[in-house]
Amino acid sequence: MKGALAARPSLVSDLDMRVELAAPLGPLTWFRVGGCADALVSPRTEEALATLVRRCHDSGIACRVLGSGANLLVDDDGIDGVVIRLDEPCFRRADFANATGDGVVRVGAGTDLMALVQQSAREGFDGLAQLAGIPATLGGAITMNAGGAYGDTAQAVHEIGHLGMDGVVRTITAKHAGFAYRHTAIPAGVVLFADLALTRGDPAAIRERVKTIFSYKKSTQPMADRSAGCMFKNPVDPATGSRRSAGHLIDQAGLKGTAVGGAYVSQIHGNFIALTEGGCTSDVLALAARVQLRVLEFSGIHLEREVVVWSKRGEVP
Ligand SMILES: Cc1cc2nc3c(=O)[nH]c(=O)nc-3n(C[C@H](O)[C@H](O)[C@H](O)COP(=O)(O)OP(=O)(O)OC[C@H]3O[C@@H](n4cnc5c(N)ncnc54)[C@H](O)[C@@H]3O)c2cc1C
Repeated sequence: MKGALAARPSLVSDLDMRVELAAPLGPLTWFRVGGCADALVSPRTEEALATLVRRCHDSGIACRVLGSGANLLVDDDGIDGVVIRLDEPCFRRADFANATGDGVVRVGAGTDLMALVQQSAREGFDGLAQLAGIPATLGGAITMNAGGAYGDTAQAVHEIGHLGMDGVVRTITAKHAGFAYRHTAIPAGVVLFADLALTRGDPAAIRERVKTIFSYKKSTQPMADRSAGCMFKNPVDPATGSRRSAGHLIDQAGLKGTAVGGAYVSQIHGNFIALTEGGCTSDVLALAARVQLRVLEFSGIHLEREVVVWSKRGEVP
């Protein structure tokens, strides 16, 4: 993109957006490691974003969306192309004031999820408490269908506003978003906003539920460590057809505390791989591979990675 920008400044020069070239991505992720993107852009309008996405698509330039970087590992060598952040005000509105009678609220995809959960409780809207304590933007939470023991994001989504790679905004109903366990089938492009189906309730009772769920999360997960939450999805046990805790499988395989370079398996939660100062992305990936191999040997179960990895080869599956 840097080269493409130098050769074709018109790609962004007429668009209303902040642009940073050779932008380090590590500081924008919870792991705090990884190389640079050719360009990091923050569009100030939906039109500017749509035009950029269409131009990138037409020019064959890779284009990715960064949320809170809470489920993301960026390759040490960085990535090609453009990274988009939805951090300008037009992508971060939570329109509780214009909620419909039955509690549908439009929220921008760049909105911080933890702040949204708090605001929703204050405003007396129920339906998001199950997401208390999950670091994310709303767009990232929808894309990953983030959730936990108390429920997931899909439960709260009525419709999604989606910008396709052709620069056209379309509506995707929850039914057509393909929500599943930590997975959606939302097409390539940008989640712009969601209409959340909430219900009106007593702010004090909602706040209490948020507090309970947040306390449970804090007591079971190393929230302050440099990680991306759970490294692996809870796998389906072929013997029973139901999901098993990846954390327990890792624990049973004796892997808690195992380290590669600066990466280690948390003692608090076996499914958290975290980093110490000086650690890098390749340490995390090497440790994740070791964990996968050992769990497969020990229990015959393959662990699928939940964390998204960006590299020059695209998204590493
Ligand atoms: C301490 C900690 C605790 C965690 N606990 C949980 C938990 O309890 N449950 C859980 O499910 N997860 C948990 N996670 C993981 C993470 O919070 C979720 O996966 C979250 O949904 C990531 O959102 P994000 O905005 O940070 O997305 P990012 O990590 O920035 O991006 C993740 C993926 O979503 C895509 N994406 C982001 N925004 C958009 C958009 N607007 N349009 C299109 N694509 C987009 C990105 O391109 C990328 O592919 C935890 C992470 C940490 C660090």
